[in-house]
Order: sequence, then C-alpha cells, then structure tokens
Amino acid sequence: MRCPFCGNVDTQVKDSRPAEDNVAIRRRRFCPACGGRFTTYERVQLRDLVVVKSSGRREDFDRAKLERSIRIAMQKRPLEPERVDQMISGIVRRLESMGDTDVPSKVIGEIVMETLARIDTVSYVRFASVYKNFQAADDFDKFVSELRPGTVGE
Ligand SMILES: [Zn+2]
Repeated sequence: MRCPFCGNVDTQVKDSRPAEDNVAIRRRRFCPACGGRFTTYERVQLRDLVVVKSSGRREDFDRAKLERSIRIAMQKRPLEPERVDQMISGIVRRLESMGDTDVPSKVIGEIVMETLARIDTVSYVRFASVYKNFQAADDFDKFVSELRPGTVGE
C-alpha cells in the first residue's frame, strides 16, 4: 500500500484487528521512508457499483467520497467514529444489495438522508440542506420546521 504522505510503496502493517463488528479489518500502517502512519480498512465488496449522476454521467462508486460527505454532516456531533463506520458500511451494503450495479446518485442521497434521520437529526438537516441544495432560506426554514420531534425517525 502506497504511503499517502510521501508516495513510498513499501509500507509496513503494524497492527491488524477486526473492526465494525467483524465486517472489516483495520490495519495500522507505518511508512519507514517518512515516518507517516495511516490506517486502511479491508472490507467485502459484493459488487462494483457505478453511480449514475442526474446529468447521466457515470462514475465508479467511491466509498471514501460518501464517507467524506457524511463526516462533514456529522462534524462535532457526539457520535462514536466506530458507529459512523458501521452506519456507512450499512449504507454501502444496502446499495450493493439493490440488485443493480447502476445506482442513481439520487437514490444514494435518499438512503443517506433516511439513515441520518434515524441516527442524528442535526447531521440529517446539514446533509439534506446541502443535498437538496435549498436556494431560498424560506424553503430551508420550512424544511426545518417540518422536522419537529417525532416526525423524524422510523
Ligand atoms: Zn511515507
């Protein structure tokens, strides 16, 4: 695995352990060239997903990209990193088990929102505000006002 800091390809695994309730293996890696440390995860990939954008453009599904958008929405929220990883794995498994390798980006956004709504309302509102690209503040207020306690969740 190439070092993300200096590009050296000869990095060492210092520690491997099961993560996310045994659906992943977490490896701590060390780069002898620059002293950098980083973590990789090994996971089962059931199928290679392709994201179909609303423009019709297609690109390979990128778990890291999905994870970044979710982590931004969850910034400073009191959620265990492990729980967030589990949540993301759950989303990916849902996508992989939908029966088609082509997944519209809209469907991914909806599954993420549905999942966030169950876990953390604040993160949900943040994600949804970006995802739905609310142009007018009025729309956003209306949206938030619809998120009264008890209206979000199961
Ligand atoms: Zn390095």
